[in-house]
Amino acid sequence: MKCSRCGRDAVLFQNYSGMHLCESHFVADFEARAKKAIRQHGWISQGDRIAVAMSGGKDSSALLHFLTTTFGERRDITISAVSIDEGIEGYRDMGAVKMIAERYDVSFHQASFKEAYGFTLDDIVEKQGDRISCSRCGVLRRHLLNKTARELGATKIALGFNLDDEAQSTLMNTLRGDAETLTHRQVPREGFVPRIRPFVHLPEREVALYAFLNVEGFIEAGCPYSKNALRADVREILNIYNYRHPATKYALVNLGEELKTNAGDNKTEPAVCPECGEPVFGECQACRIVAEMRK
Ligand code: SF4
Repeated sequence: MKCSRCGRDAVLFQNYSGMHLCESHFVADFEARAKKAIRQHGWISQGDRIAVAMSGGKDSSALLHFLTTTFGERRDITISAVSIDEGIEGYRDMGAVKMIAERYDVSFHQASFKEAYGFTLDDIVEKQGDRISCSRCGVLRRHLLNKTARELGATKIALGFNLDDEAQSTLMNTLRGDAETLTHRQVPREGFVPRIRPFVHLPEREVALYAFLNVEGFIEAGCPYSKNALRADVREILNIYNYRHPATKYALVNLGEELKTNAGDNKTEPAVCPECGEPVFGECQACRIVAEMRK
């Protein structure tokens, strides 16, 4: 097929827009939409020190490429890469992540579950089974990522979350009846580094294509525990439904954003966890997991 804009060979068909795009028009369209999301949310401003949360997979590698390409020349903005090693045998490859960061000439920082908590995610699975691997992993990763980024002086944490991830999260929280998360709006809070998601309106397959076209050496292997998560079921259901109704993922992401906007600001201030010293709302979930593992 030919590009709808210039007639060259197309690399992508966007079923939701009806457009075929060649490589250069796809990259331009992709980057314009990521920049629009940043503008709309006011996510990046003068003086920001952005820590890109790097797993080394397609999403975070594409994000590092996009941010360094877009903001790399700005002297008032610094970009670094932060990677959390959960301790998943045969999956997490910190050497490969470091190489990607070096290719983009950004400083690389890492932290690990083993050093921070005394056990790995594999240890959790061995003790508690693999059904809960993602929920435990998510809590500990957010906790450690926030702490590491804050200690590095970062003003923003950039996440490679794409449209599919966001739509899945909205649907998962709906299926769980989790109104609190659905309406939880991120507002600046002492001790929490604000998180930004420039790819929030970009479908997973377009992020993957952007990574294939631009990034050398990103990690293609998937986490061995991902198939056990509720997210895997939701992804499958959503992909089947979205095939017949291509605007569904956009509708879910817009719904999630509207619910958060209409909910207004939560005025609750975080407390400080007496165990780990990190800011928390309610019980510290990370310390609860640590206590469970010590039993
Ligand atoms: Fe962690 Fe689950 Fe992601 Fe694996 S798939 S890295 S266990 S959240």
